[in-house]
Order: sequence, then C-alpha cells, then structure tokens
Amino acid sequence: MYLPILSLFSGAGGLDIGFYRAGFIPRLAIDISPAAVKTYQRNHPYTCVEQLDLSMVPVEQLISLWNACSKGEAPVGIIGGPPCQAFSVSNVHQRDNDPRAQLVERYAEIIGTFARLTGLAFFVFENVTGLLGKKHRTLYQVFKQLCEAAGFRIYEKIIDAVRFGVPQFRQRIIIVGLNERWFGDTNFKIPEGNSEPVPVSAVLHGLPEPVYYYSKLKREDIPFHPNHVTQRPKSKKFTNGSLLPGQAFGRSFRVLRWDAPSWTVAYGHHEVHIHPNCHRRLSVYEAMLLQGFPHSYVLEGTLSQQITLVSNAVPPPVGEAIGSAIKEALEQASVRQVHKIPASSLLEAQDKPRIKEVLVIQEQSSGDGTRRLPEVPGQFFSEWFHQNGRLFPWREKAATAFGVLVAEILLRQTKAEMVAQCWPLLIERFPNPEDLSKAGDDDIWELVRGLGLGRQRSVALRAVATGLVERFGGLVPASVEELLSLPHVGIYTAHAVCVFAFGIRLPVVDSNIIRLFSRLTGQQMKNDNRRCSLAWEIAWDILPTSGVREHNYGLLDFAGIVCTPARPRCASCPLSQQCISYYQEPASEPISS
Ligand code: SF4
Repeated sequence: MYLPILSLFSGAGGLDIGFYRAGFIPRLAIDISPAAVKTYQRNHPYTCVEQLDLSMVPVEQLISLWNACSKGEAPVGIIGGPPCQAFSVSNVHQRDNDPRAQLVERYAEIIGTFARLTGLAFFVFENVTGLLGKKHRTLYQVFKQLCEAAGFRIYEKIIDAVRFGVPQFRQRIIIVGLNERWFGDTNFKIPEGNSEPVPVSAVLHGLPEPVYYYSKLKREDIPFHPNHVTQRPKSKKFTNGSLLPGQAFGRSFRVLRWDAPSWTVAYGHHEVHIHPNCHRRLSVYEAMLLQGFPHSYVLEGTLSQQITLVSNAVPPPVGEAIGSAIKEALEQASVRQVHKIPASSLLEAQDKPRIKEVLVIQEQSSGDGTRRLPEVPGQFFSEWFHQNGRLFPWREKAATAFGVLVAEILLRQTKAEMVAQCWPLLIERFPNPEDLSKAGDDDIWELVRGLGLGRQRSVALRAVATGLVERFGGLVPASVEELLSLPHVGIYTAHAVCVFAFGIRLPVVDSNIIRLFSRLTGQQMKNDNRRCSLAWEIAWDILPTSGVREHNYGLLDFAGIVCTPARPRCASCPLSQQCISYYQEPASEPISS
C-alpha cells in the first residue's frame, strides 16, 4: 500500500523518486518552473502536477487542489526543498532581500496548516548547508520553531550523498519532522549512509559521445538519451592539454577523475564539470547519472533549464533512504493507516473530473512517442509471486531445460492448468530431445490432443526435438540467438527458456504482459510481442538485477490473474493507484490495439 504525500518545490522529482521507491506516492506535486512541471508530468504520470508560485498561493487553494487529486485521502507527509540559491555558499550573488529565502517560512506555514487540518504525520525539508551559516541561521531556527509549534519533533542532520552510493560529494542539510501525536517517543534517526565512495567511472564509463547543442537541435537528433546533450567545447583549454583530471581552474574548469566521485553537481553559468577525458563538458544525462537518476528518466526544457533542474535535484538514492527510514518509523509507531484519517476539514472533493483533466494534459505532453513507465517498486512482481504465484510442475527446481522448453510450446494459446495435466505424462514418456525426436506423430498427439490446435503441437514438438538433437547434441542452448534458430521457437519462448531454465537476466513479454503495460501506462500498444518494442523497453526498465525468475513469473501471473482481458480485478489490484487505465475508466477491455 502506497502512502499519499504532497510534494512541494518538486523540481526534477529526485526526492519523489526516492520516496516512491520507499512506498509513498506523491498525489500532488507543485513547482514554479514550467520545465520542472513538464519534467514531472512526463515521468510521474500518476501524479497531479501544478505550476504555482508557493509564495503567493493561499493554503486553502493548496488543500482544495490536494483534495481534488487524492480522492479525499489526507496526505501522510509533505516533502520538499525550498529553492536553495538564496543560501548556497557557492552563490556569490546572495542578496539580503532575496524573496526565495521567505519560502522557508512559507513552507513551515503550509506544513503547520496541513498538520492542523489533516493530521499530517511527517515532513521532510532538504536544503544546502549554507542555510546553517551565520547569515541565515536565524531563518533556519525560525523554521524549526514554527514546525515544533505545529506539533512536530525535529530531527536534523548534514548528510553527504556520496555515502548513499551516489558517485558525487554532495552535502545537504536534512530536517525530518515527525508529528508527536503519532510518533510519541519513536527512536528515529535520519540515515547517514554507509556506502564506500563510488567513482565516476561506475556510471560514465562506456557511454557513447553526446550530441553538441545547437539552436535548432531536435529531440529526434539525439539518439542515445534525450538529455545526452552538452555544450560544444570552445575554449582552447579543451585542446591545448592544459586540462588534467582532478584539477580545477576556478569554478569554470573543474575536471572530473575517473577513479573518484564527482564534485557536487551544482552548476552555474558555464560551470558544468568537465569529462574525465578533458575534451568537453558533461552532458545533462551524465550529470543525471552522477545524481543517481535512473536511465529512463528524462528532463524537459531548454539545455540551460535542464542544467538547473539536475543541479537542484535531490539524488533519488538519498530520497529513498530517508523515505525508507520514515516508512519504518511509521510502521513501528503503528500508524500505517494514518493516511485514512477522516479529512473532514478538507474542502469538498471534485476528484474524478480533475484527475481526468490532468491525464489529458499528460497525454498531450507525451505526444512525442516516448514511453511512460509503470512506476512499480523493483521487487513488486517477485514479492507478489511469492505470495500469490501459481505452482506448476515445470516451475519446480527439478524441471529440466528441455521440460521448460516443452512447457512453453504447450502453453501457447492454452490455459496453464490444462498443460499441467499433460506435461508430466509427456516428459515421463519422452524425457529428453532424443526420445521425443524418435517418437511417432501419433504417440505425441495422443498425449497433447486434449490441448487443442489439432496436430500443430505434436508436429512442433518433434521438430524442436529434432533440431536440438541435430544442431545442439541433444542439449537445450542457453542463448536467445541459438534458441531462435530452432523451428517453432519465437522471441517469447527463447527469452522464457533463458530466464526460467537458466536464470539469465532477460525480460519476457507476452500478450498478457503487453495488456498490463498498456493499461498501467495508458498507452496504446501493438498486441504482438514481435512488434511492440515499447513493451520490451518497459520490461527491460523494470527488470530487477536479481530474482529474475520470480519477477517474470510474477509479471506473467499478475497479468493473467489480476489484470485479465475481461473484467480485470481493479478493485483489489495493488497497482490501481499507479494505473492510468484505472483512473480513466473501468478497464473492462484491453486498450491495446
Ligand atoms: S488497476 Fe485494473 S487495469 Fe490497472 S493494472 Fe490493476 S487490474 Fe489492470
């Protein structure tokens, strides 16, 4: 169950990615920057996003917006980092009357009002350490006092992103406020991370060269990633050998080293760090990787807006660690249901029309053909499989690779329960490719005729067995290419055998999975796994680094049991909150074309 949160000053959404991974779902995100709003809409299709100046908007309007986007649930927390430029020690243009500094007090006011009206359980505040300096210390103290007066116990810590597995030194002040009403004396600690420093090479090595920016550059001219763009190197320093890895000439020429973490990703004008090979500045995409963003994330806006977005972002791994610590504290304090506090003080809900309106905007904003990913935690399908997955004899450890291949051929257009009746008999009689290749057509057909499709299956089984004997010495090959060279073996079967028989890290995509992805993302997809590259891209993106068998079994079973073609079980579906189709209309039919 995801807990609903409100995201303010959302920026590129780095903190939000982390909180999502920890089990929270931003229902409403607000930022003043059009590029930030567009970025958020593109990458978080399940969230209402508003472009608002939080220094101007009345809190009542925020509550009204929240209620419209959240189906009347109260937010369990508020996360955000008011703009940090006013306090940054690297900002040499600090002004005493910078209006952005006032946003800190404004943030405290919003937190206090939500706490009073909705019983907010926690808030998170992230900012630069410059806020602790002599000049701004009073503001910092006022913020904490306002939050304490609103009923929050304050926890604060300076953390460094490098200790969270991010290849970058990045110190930031974190404040977490826990509502004393819910947490009492909970022993909470802001995580400080324990990772060894990760070098730049871990994320930048082996990347293709980026595209150099020019005024008429279009997205389709950037092949690898929409943000793999950088400024064309003009200074002679890039060619005369004066730049060396690890050296810095002022703020404008800081060269990264392959074997060390990056300096803080916080770039002013012409300050983007220089690639360790010294020949150019980093691309926006490379900076995103140094911040710990996932490959599939895309920043919107002009090049300069993208640089600002990535510079101001919270690294997602840092957000995830903080979110996980808060989630654990919530569970320990037994306030898991806190998000169901009656929101009697909230303004009247007008949720459905509002959400539809937002979705229409998202459809338009993603009209460039790029995919939107279903936002599911990495282990969701594995865990779902452990609790709900189906057990069949070919899924048992004792099943051979040949048995798995035979099962996949039998499962085409056939219910697994029916295959489970004839598969053991077939494998007992023909336990290896050699035996099956010598069998008569009638002998095989007698065993599989109950599955339908006439003699197609018996012919296919014998042809595959013969191919295995003649070309692979009676063994099942463990590569997609070799499996595809066999007759009657298509892309799904080849991947399924590699995953389920050999544990190779590959995705599987069948028509059920295409339907699930189509509904989750609200995108039309070709119902043909040979032609639906979008579904394969999504399957790759959500593939965990370990436990691929369980993940893919979970995906197949979830699509087959929960997200069924007709009458999907949306009411009890654990992914309904992330599912675009669920918010659009009851998903009685597949929307794939
Ligand atoms: S909410 Fe319904 S349509 Fe969406 S994934 Fe779940 S079962 Fe499928």
